Amino acid sequence: MARKYLIETFGCQMNVHDSERMAGLLEQAGYEATVDAADADVVVINTCSVRERAEDKLYTRLGELRLLAAEHGHNPIVVVAGCVAQQEGAALLKRSPGVADVIVGTQAIRRLPMMVEQAAAQRRAVINLDPFDDVTFPLGVTKRNDPLKAYVTIIEGCNEFCSFCVVPYTRGNERMRPKADILAEVREAASTGHREVQLLGQIVNHYAAPDDPSCDFSGLLEAVHDVDGIERIRFASPHPRHVSPRFLATMARLPKVCRHLHLPVQSGSTRVLEAMRRRYTRDSYLDLIAQIRESLPDVALSTDMIIGFPGETDADFDDTMTLTAAVQYHSMFSFKYSARPNTLADKRLADDVTEDEKTRRIVALQALQRDIQSGLNAALVGQTVDVLVDAASRRHDTELSGRTSTNVVVNLPGAAEWIGRTVPVRIERAGPHSVWGQMSELGTPGSAS
Ligand code: SF4
Repeated sequence: MARKYLIETFGCQMNVHDSERMAGLLEQAGYEATVDAADADVVVINTCSVRERAEDKLYTRLGELRLLAAEHGHNPIVVVAGCVAQQEGAALLKRSPGVADVIVGTQAIRRLPMMVEQAAAQRRAVINLDPFDDVTFPLGVTKRNDPLKAYVTIIEGCNEFCSFCVVPYTRGNERMRPKADILAEVREAASTGHREVQLLGQIVNHYAAPDDPSCDFSGLLEAVHDVDGIERIRFASPHPRHVSPRFLATMARLPKVCRHLHLPVQSGSTRVLEAMRRRYTRDSYLDLIAQIRESLPDVALSTDMIIGFPGETDADFDDTMTLTAAVQYHSMFSFKYSARPNTLADKRLADDVTEDEKTRRIVALQALQRDIQSGLNAALVGQTVDVLVDAASRRHDTELSGRTSTNVVVNLPGAAEWIGRTVPVRIERAGPHSVWGQMSELGTPGSAS
């Protein structure tokens, strides 16, 4: 009987994609997927350490697996992967003794099957946190979760060293993937029915092809745009200080590039941005937003915001509120600041905004953002928009859901065979997080977006 594996993933899209790669590697080694830890021979926990709460989830889960072993005598090989594995290494074994068998760093996942075999044979922990400069990945191995949307990594690591961020320490220096390798993966995704690609990197718009000196991120978008079968191109995330007029012009020119820009701002206060080492100011960010609106009038913007960064005053927070109101983001990920190991902010700045104050501020920001989203979504009522239908609704059997090019979630009644098609939908009702509509009588499923 085939051995079984379960992968549990916390964190960002990069982690979700690493899990797809690990799943493919394990299947290549003869394992089959299961959804039940009690049935698994290997349990991989792919961790995130960007926020303290995400990191805590690992230790809770390791405790649950320990209980499973004690109560039912079931002892799978437990693998800790991802950013906490890279950050903690052997220290993790001290904090949670006897639970993890394999600790695989963010840059060593290709060695996962071998490490699992080694741990099973030796019954002692196997650790590999080595840097791995080769950013290629064998074609056809990744086991994609989504039949329509394919993640494709273009850059690994980051050199930016924002003072709050753990990524340069857990994912290493910025390394560009060869353009030829990226295009081969995009073509392969298209050949397996994927209609949308999402290009991934910590700063995607810093891309420079190592195998083609003339190709920057705009050039890469053009090359991906030429791949037959791909209808939509998304990317995450660009950094505000690398958004150039050429990039905006390229986006405006290429119809397959979705009209959505996730542009993390992190704070509306220049003083705080400086302490965060973001290398732009409130004013330069707002100038950039004005340029974007001019080049791409139909684009939807989203962002990340950190609340309660060390030294953030009421006035700084007001700047965040007024910037949010000025930009009118379609969506926002907002988080309370927590100090992350090794970062400059952790070493040099006191986490001096109280928990109560962080809560008060984030509640106010999220209420404002909810009102903005409600207003932007309400403005869609009466319009007909193209929706790539990507799933059946989790709540209603006869309801489907999909996304507009601007990344708005649209719910609509329809048949399961519409999944994978682009349909024109007339919007009838709107909420803060999604909208509802009906397929337009004028359209037929299958029309191009
Ligand atoms: S740009 Fe800043 S926040 Fe983004 S990954 Fe790099 S260091 Fe972290």
